Amino acid sequence: MNLHLYDTFTRTTLPIFASDSKQFRFYCCGPTVYGPAHIGNFRTFTIQDVFRRVLKVAGLNPFHVRNITDVDDKTIRGSISAGMTLAAFTQKWADKFHADCSALNMLVPDVEPSAVTHIPEQIEMIEGLVKNGNAYVTVDGSVYFKVSSFADYGRLARLDRDALRTQETNSASTRNLADEYERDTVADFALWKAVKSEDADNFWDSPWGRGRPGWHIECSAMSRKHLGDTFDLHGGGIDLIFPHHENEIAQSRSFTGLDVFARHWFHCAHLMVEGQKMSKSLGNLYTLDQLREKGITPTALRYTLMNGHYRQPLNFTFNSLHASQSALEKLEKEILKLLANEKLTHKDWPQFVDNVPVGFFSADDAPFKSAWNKLLDDLNVPGCLGALFSEMPFEKNNTHAGYRMLQGLGAIVFALGLQLFQNADVTVTVPDAIIALAKARWDAKQARDWQTSDRLRKELTDAGWQVKDKKEGYDILPL
Ligand code: AMP
Ligand code: ZN
Repeated sequence: MNLHLYDTFTRTTLPIFASDSKQFRFYCCGPTVYGPAHIGNFRTFTIQDVFRRVLKVAGLNPFHVRNITDVDDKTIRGSISAGMTLAAFTQKWADKFHADCSALNMLVPDVEPSAVTHIPEQIEMIEGLVKNGNAYVTVDGSVYFKVSSFADYGRLARLDRDALRTQETNSASTRNLADEYERDTVADFALWKAVKSEDADNFWDSPWGRGRPGWHIECSAMSRKHLGDTFDLHGGGIDLIFPHHENEIAQSRSFTGLDVFARHWFHCAHLMVEGQKMSKSLGNLYTLDQLREKGITPTALRYTLMNGHYRQPLNFTFNSLHASQSALEKLEKEILKLLANEKLTHKDWPQFVDNVPVGFFSADDAPFKSAWNKLLDDLNVPGCLGALFSEMPFEKNNTHAGYRMLQGLGAIVFALGLQLFQNADVTVTVPDAIIALAKARWDAKQARDWQTSDRLRKELTDAGWQVKDKKEGYDILPL
């Protein structure tokens, strides 16, 4: 079975492969750094991280580019009200974003370009679009993309193209100077915005005068620079389908003259709160720090964010976070048992996660293959977790040798990016009463008093513990 993923452009599930047979090159729209990212943003970034990890285990050699949006209306406004330079302000929030990503165990992108460090590339592209007749300059020195110049405009979002063909302004007779707008107000959109007084000194020189790039052009310019004119996949949250990704396609294809920009479009549905998208503008958001203050670990949050199919909206609840914590503890206990059977402890666990052999699951007899196959089938993380938990207790239900099971679990846990055994408590602190019971059982067994030793074993089991006899002595393990 090969990796398949739903493609927004064709609305079908397609096989995933590297077009150059060497590297799977993909671009994800990154954060706008003007405050802490919320856990809705992290749903999308976590899913993209799982995708990248699955590509790696599947042997598809991922190359991941994710940008930082460090100039737009929000970052400029934020920096001015914080009394900071735009550079210092966006650096502060980019650092926070990186710290949160690291706590959530996300792999660092191969390249993380930022809009401000790619101004010449954006200007080059806008110049090309003006030259090709796809863009025009207005009297104030702004540049707009002419939507009617691109016949395929609206194909990704499935807009009514006939209605768009000649539209240069929207129903309010204005062009879209704002970067974000609704699909029923399609109009020519800004590639370059002439400087205004509220921009303070945040502007750059260009052939059209001082100003700054619009939001959409940055991703066209940065993806082209780091991945080329066409590449394998482009991702983001579903709110980016329109207008952002629609506009990227229009800009990039008009500039290159090619039929294809990204070969595959990968969108993650939203994290919701009481039926509404979690977002800054609605004020219904949680950050990682807020959840940590409530005792939720980043791993439990990561587990919760993935444990709903990425194409379905996911409702955020505290119950689901607590359920994730319990599920993780159960998984840890199961792994501890397997480790103990191999005379290993939780300290040995990283070796199984950090060195997953590429193509581990290509072996016909690989353990936990049913869980892995769920990931190959449109990144079905809840299906994968369901398959994994249905094989518990592993010792009983799984016929593979213990060490091989640990390898299979290491590969799945790597693909999901779960950091286990972070909390020292779960490395099994055996209560004194349990130690005493286990000792009494051992003594009874040495004295060949089977009745007492059986009774004590049952007492231990009822309390959630088991003893494993060795040649000399015994181990006490959680059930
Ligand atoms: P932004 O910083 O607003 O550009 O968003 C960063 C990423 O988070 C984009 O891919 C958005 O589509 C995504 N996103 C925003 N809100 C949500 C949400 N509630 N659920 C899932 N993804 C979201
Ligand atoms: Zn983008």
